[in-house]
Amino acid sequence: MCAEALDAVVRGLYGEFSAFRGTGKVADYIPALAEVDPGHFGVVVHTLPGHVTACGDADVLFSIQSISKLFTFTMAFAGRGESIWKRVGKEPSGTAFNSLYQLEAEAGIPRNPFINAGAMVISDMLLADYPDPMAELLAFLHRLTGDESIGYDQHVYQSELEYGMRNASLAYLMKSFGNVQNPVDEVLRFYFKQCSIRMSCRQLAQATQFLANQGMNPLTGRAILTPSQTKRTNALLLTTGLYNEAGDFAFRVGIPAKSGVGGGIAGIIPGQLSVVTWAPGLNTIGNSQLGIDFLEEFTTRTGLSIF
Ligand code: GLN
Repeated sequence: MCAEALDAVVRGLYGEFSAFRGTGKVADYIPALAEVDPGHFGVVVHTLPGHVTACGDADVLFSIQSISKLFTFTMAFAGRGESIWKRVGKEPSGTAFNSLYQLEAEAGIPRNPFINAGAMVISDMLLADYPDPMAELLAFLHRLTGDESIGYDQHVYQSELEYGMRNASLAYLMKSFGNVQNPVDEVLRFYFKQCSIRMSCRQLAQATQFLANQGMNPLTGRAILTPSQTKRTNALLLTTGLYNEAGDFAFRVGIPAKSGVGGGIAGIIPGQLSVVTWAPGLNTIGNSQLGIDFLEEFTTRTGLSIF
């Protein structure tokens, strides 16, 4: 599909779906997230040749929440390779992103790196690998986007810290099984900071280009992951990126993607493009309702899915 045709489809769809702004319910278990206006709606499609279609709130910063798990996972996978799988699995969980009971039954080894427990194990690895992993993560995002303004939101961070009882439970449970090596406090602080990073759809679409581009950052020409690691990361995103809705999302949309409770969804069509939506209203699973509906129609009308 040529850039002009793609542009027309995306803009047309954005217009149609704008009528449904505000669908779903903004996350409120982290009080600072409940302050966000549910009417926001942004979409960016960024093709590998570098054509960008941006609609609506494409440049408004929002809390990326669990989309951050994709970047911390990439850092750990790039740095440690296959050894990470001793401490975290690569299976769909079939349970909520912050569920505790499976973790108890499976001796503190989280099912995958894209649920909260898995991301905390990855955080624990990065705390061991870098003196200041948060600075490292931000520097990584700056290199991926060419934008040094990306940072995290103190207000959301404090709110997560204050209301993080369930995440603390997950971390302590894993610590009791020996799968967290650093002090739980440090792991939680780093984990909440990464969730509190603020980015726009446009920045996220740029930052995820390497996953469409066999692991290479198109801005610098540097390899982030090997082509094989990139395939594996995309496979994991397809099977686990939307938690216990990953199957339904693969069925309806058919692309690797990562969601967050801030209402963002970052999707990748390998070899072609990245696509990011932001609409803060969530469904009962914690994924953006309007985002999923838009992406389903996007892959249907363009015929661009991985299948
Ligand atoms: N910070 C959120 C949490 O830990 C991230 C969850 C999400 O985006 N699904 O609960």
